[in-house]
Amino acid sequence: MRIVLLGAPGSGKGTQSQRLMQQEHIPQISTGDLLRAAVARGTELGRKAKEAMDGGRLVADQLVLGLIRERLAEPDARRGFILDGFPRNLAQAQALDRLLATLRQPLDLVVQLEVDYGELVRRIAGRRTCADCGRVFNLFTAPGQLSENEVCPRTGSAHRLIQRPDDNEATVTERLRVYDEQTRPLIEFYRARGLLRVINAEGEVDEVTRRLEQALHAIERPKAAKTARASTRKLGSPKRSAPRRGASRRAAKSASGMRRKAAATARAASKGKPPRRAPDGTRTGTRRGARRARR
Ligand SMILES: [Zn+2]
Repeated sequence: MRIVLLGAPGSGKGTQSQRLMQQEHIPQISTGDLLRAAVARGTELGRKAKEAMDGGRLVADQLVLGLIRERLAEPDARRGFILDGFPRNLAQAQALDRLLATLRQPLDLVVQLEVDYGELVRRIAGRRTCADCGRVFNLFTAPGQLSENEVCPRTGSAHRLIQRPDDNEATVTERLRVYDEQTRPLIEFYRARGLLRVINAEGEVDEVTRRLEQALHAIERPKAAKTARASTRKLGSPKRSAPRRGASRRAAKSASGMRRKAAATARAASKGKPPRRAPDGTRTGTRRGARRARR
């Protein structure tokens, strides 16, 4: 399963990708971590990245893509990956698209973690980091974790909590502005490709993880139908290949649109009936549509 998580600073993207990594047994690929590791190992890309960072320049997209390409070649990424922190703008998203097409590893899903603006500000302003071990705490969203008795694995005494300079309120507003301007357009980019799911990322961390899992496993059913597609092709109705009307036409051509159609066909075929089409001709792939059509 190849996934991109999108979300503003404070949306819980980092936390949720950590949890997904454990539950789905696929690596989380953070470009920040990749850069740090490449610099530390002194690889060719790492040396170039260090040059840029030392000179106060942004690391070029092509260089980051090179690191992603190297990372995806590692055996643990064969089953999939969670990309966190990349892409951050349209140019990067397009470049990533091209890279993944070359590698024949296209994205399966892009999940947008939606959190209200005020809540984002509150979450980031409440963030405290241990200066010794780097663990992140939150005064507001997880006050229970701030136990005085807990021992820092680095020092053996209490965690030394500081507020990182870019977590103060003035910086937060600027980070959110940059997100809105540069990263938010990716929502439409991926929606047009039929890859986007939006989940409500407010509330308990566990609850958000549950919603995220639901969004991921919603794509697995249609995937299973893929193998059935070859055998059902002969049974398919002539209408099946007709493009859907209006705004959904583009989405219908996308991979997931094809998967949804295939699933509907497979479901219908397994009951020995031709695929049904809802009266309005649009919702055939959904359960609701099938139910409506049966009435
Ligand atoms: Zn600590």
